[in-house]
Amino acid sequence: MTAFSLEGKTALVTGANTGIGQAIAVAMGRAGAHVICAGRSATADTVAMIDSAEELTLDFADPMAAQDTFQTHKTDILVNNAGIIRRNDSTEFTEADWDAVMDVNLKALFFTSQAFAKAALNDNREARIVNIASLLSFQGGIRVPSYTASKHGVAGLTKLLANEWAAKGINVNAIAPGYIETNNTEALRADPDRNKAILDRIPAGRWGQADDIAETAVFLSAPASKYIHGAILNVDGGWLAR
Ligand code: NAP
Repeated sequence: MTAFSLEGKTALVTGANTGIGQAIAVAMGRAGAHVICAGRSATADTVAMIDSAEELTLDFADPMAAQDTFQTHKTDILVNNAGIIRRNDSTEFTEADWDAVMDVNLKALFFTSQAFAKAALNDNREARIVNIASLLSFQGGIRVPSYTASKHGVAGLTKLLANEWAAKGINVNAIAPGYIETNNTEALRADPDRNKAILDRIPAGRWGQADDIAETAVFLSAPASKYIHGAILNVDGGWLAR
């Protein structure tokens, strides 16, 4: 077994029906994990791509939805990937758009991590949490106030939870994806001016693929990264280096 193998491990990925979450679930499976493909939408398509996988309904319209999940599903790796974005001028931004984004991107991430960690600590089991952060964990963005606040929060919680749990056998880290080709960024790619401006600023000269993030998530779940705690790994084609 190599330091990059997930043989014998069970990984739960939220938002595993599409985009980055689907790619992560498939990559975890390739690395040898049994994968619990969680989603508010059906994840049957993702399950079909993986040797050993199962479907689980988790809708973070209720951010506490995963409270009982880890009592019935023994899980070694949690990937908090589910996330949404709402765009509007800050003068017009509604409470509903604030709450919806904070509930899925931040509150659900914290309470799902709490439930997961309680189960692992109770069993004295080593465990991994990989959070999906964003460039807007570091930059301000524009017209996305709740998204920026939530993703700065994800970076902060990643460090806080690492501080609390590192000595107890749980590694907590995050990935900050750059501009990745998924549903989330379809509107940006459809706008020729925005698309060109983004591409011109990416040192790698291309949009990221979901698989670029997926392999990093495997690394942060595997023995190879056992001494990494509280890191936020930029996988952005060099965007933040610019
Ligand atoms: P996506 O294709 O829109 O996927 C988002 C995922 O979150 C979907 O599976 C979605 O399910 C799920 N989700 C949304 N609301 C949910 C809820 N209430 N309960 C459970 N699941 C819910 O976008 P993506 O690009 O793959 O995004 C994945 C993560 O990467 C997000 O956290 C996003 O912020 C982050 N990210 C993306 C980029 C990028 O460039 N694409 C950059 C930085 C960070 P449904 O399909 O059912 O809506």
